[in-house]
Amino acid sequence: MKSKPLKYYSTNRKSTELTFSQALLKGLAPDGGLYMPLSIPKITREELESFTAKEYHEIAFSVLNKFLSDETDNHELMSLCRDAYIFEVPLEKVCERKYIMRLDQGPTASFKDFASRMMSKLMQYYLSINNQHLTILTATSGDTGSAVASAFYGLKNINVIILFPDDEVSLIQRKQMTTLQDNIKVIAINGKFDDCQRLVKKAFLDLSLSQISLSSANSINIGRLLPQSVYYFYAWSRLSGRVDDKTVFSVPSGNFGNLMGGLIASKMGLPVKQFIVSTNENNEVPEFLRTGNYKSIIPSKNCISSAMNVGHPSNLARIVALYGGMMDETGNIIKVPDLIKMREDLFAVSVTDEETKATIADIYKQYNILLEPHGAIAWHGINEYFRFNKNINSEKQLCISLETAHPAKFPEEIRQIINVDTPLPASLIGIAEKTEKYFSLENNYEMLKDFILKHY
Ligand SMILES: *Cc1c(COP(=O)(O)O)cnc(C)c1O
Repeated sequence: MKSKPLKYYSTNRKSTELTFSQALLKGLAPDGGLYMPLSIPKITREELESFTAKEYHEIAFSVLNKFLSDETDNHELMSLCRDAYIFEVPLEKVCERKYIMRLDQGPTASFKDFASRMMSKLMQYYLSINNQHLTILTATSGDTGSAVASAFYGLKNINVIILFPDDEVSLIQRKQMTTLQDNIKVIAINGKFDDCQRLVKKAFLDLSLSQISLSSANSINIGRLLPQSVYYFYAWSRLSGRVDDKTVFSVPSGNFGNLMGGLIASKMGLPVKQFIVSTNENNEVPEFLRTGNYKSIIPSKNCISSAMNVGHPSNLARIVALYGGMMDETGNIIKVPDLIKMREDLFAVSVTDEETKATIADIYKQYNILLEPHGAIAWHGINEYFRFNKNINSEKQLCISLETAHPAKFPEEIRQIINVDTPLPASLIGIAEKTEKYFSLENNYEMLKDFILKHY
């Protein structure tokens, strides 16, 4: 028996509800809101237990199938999952039941590969059914751009435009985007990540661009979020597999797409005790949880965990919606969410650059484990968690800290802190010698619009 197809609503509640493929191809809702499933499908206890014997791509199939089964051929979806997940997901033991999940083994050495690869394949699949064409416009603080460029490179029915803040991405990150070319165009913006994101959002809502089919590959796209639920299930299935064994996950957060993936997994039925929401000095979300008042940080602070320098995270609107509230794209709270429940589920920590560096040094000295700044922030979150929760048995509690990029993407920082040269993973070898090509624009919407009209 087929149930009613799952629809997706806009968090601003003014746009019509869409199916998954429509929401995926649209990106941002016309009312400026973000698409969310009307209900969160459940994973049964039996299904959960069956994950212990399944491979990553099979778990991905089981989880994603719940959200898009009515529109997607099962065999096709399984084969997309198999093609997308061709790399390892190491779970490295630190001590007791504390682990680092390394999400850095994909082609661009970033956790963003997990979602980008799945999203590009799903878009290609739905577009080809109706012989459609799409232009992806996306803002990046570094890792989204490279993951998206790699995932969409060479696709016939999709063009990609990537905006990055001129001074805020590392050389390797830039080269990962600018050395591909073909259907990938890259623009340096004289501004910050939040400026890039604002330009992109403006283009989506600009009716004079409506003849160009534009979509987003940022975590404002629901297609970026759902695949990020999968590795939470995977980690639990490898390290526990017992339904009564609730896990603590520490998630280094910037735009809060990764955390949203975890929250969805938890609402689906994954046994989660709490999420540690680990941010850098851009602490607008920890402050929001503490006080109930939301104040964005503009301009955002420049921390060494550059992919998390976000002063106004778009996915906060989704988190608020998940807890029964409503927040518009400017951060106005229209309906207050259930803050008590949010505080039960989320333990928030803001980590300074000094603490981040000290953590990289400590975990290396104590356990010979190499972390880059984002993963170090997550690990620091776990230490803080036990410092504040003395009643929780630190030896028995399963804790998984997410490492979201490969340390080799931050070689200077790591050398400075612990004087270690990080070996390059295979995916990054040879990139330094490749030729770059990219455009430069002022932080000005009209200039971006002219660029889009001229090229497409
Ligand atoms: C993007 C990114 C983050 C933040 O993820 P969000 O989903 O935006 O919260 C953390 N670490 C790294 C390395 C990233 O690239």
